[in-house]
Amino acid sequence: MLKGKTALVTGSTSGIGLGIAKALAQQGANVVLNGFGDVEGPRAEVQAAGRAHGAKVAYHGADMSRVADIEDMVAYSVRNFGQVDILVNNAGIQHVAPIEDFAPERWDAVIAINLSSAFHATRLVLPSMQAADNGKGWGRIINVASVHGLVGSAQKSAYVAAKHGLVGLTKVCALENATTGITCNAICPGWVLTPLVQKQVDAKAADQGISVADATKQLLAEKEPSLQFTTPEELGALAVFFCSPAGANVRGVAWNMDGGWAAQ
Ligand code: NAD
Repeated sequence: MLKGKTALVTGSTSGIGLGIAKALAQQGANVVLNGFGDVEGPRAEVQAAGRAHGAKVAYHGADMSRVADIEDMVAYSVRNFGQVDILVNNAGIQHVAPIEDFAPERWDAVIAINLSSAFHATRLVLPSMQAADNGKGWGRIINVASVHGLVGSAQKSAYVAAKHGLVGLTKVCALENATTGITCNAICPGWVLTPLVQKQVDAKAADQGISVADATKQLLAEKEPSLQFTTPEELGALAVFFCSPAGANVRGVAWNMDGGWAAQ
């Protein structure tokens, strides 16, 4: 379905971004990966996912807190594949502390990586998306927000502010391009068992002197009525739907996949 398209997925060396990158490659899209840590493992996984369609995989190590890096990454993607058709703004970090103890530099980092990076990547890819399809425009921008883009939780001021901001940016981008073939939507996961959440489970286990298994059960029970993690594969399938012809008039939604968290 996405053969010949190119997807740039930020923060895709791990977790949700990697799941979405694989799902898009399975549909034939070329993928530009981004993120820290091991690159060769994730690259091989995405290559394997896209092999049947000959999808190509590239990587750029932009630090998403740095505007110049983001500019370089978009230019690199265009140099490699000619165009960015699908942008998935996924890179994100977490920091947990009450507001009065929240280190200002952690606030700045969370806002830069979880919110401002999406603005920069979006403004850089939009002109060529708007010119696509003989000026009618074609593109898909998918912002990985969070259920914390819809509701708050204590100790997560920067994260909740960034994710609510990302949902707002999603709506504005969708509206500004509403008469074109460019859609912009947000995905709002509940708990997904990735390294970002594993750190929070481990901290809970250490704080309360309980096992990691019990901390995991408690974490889910506090917020997620299904008592189940959402998976990167499920989120990848939702991203594929947004990219499909059936998703052409889905504009500006914040779609939660959260086991009922925000329904409470
Ligand atoms: P993760 O830690 O597994 O992956 C984060 C990715 O972002 C990694 O590839 C990492 O290298 C990259 N990254 C971090 N800082 C970066 C930077 N400065 N520049 C470039 N890349 C950077 O986390 P995840 O759980 O897969 O989170 C992905 C997104 O999903 C985040 O935006 C997160 O807020 C969101 N999210 C996660 C959950 C969850 O429960 N895990 C729930 C809702 C939303």
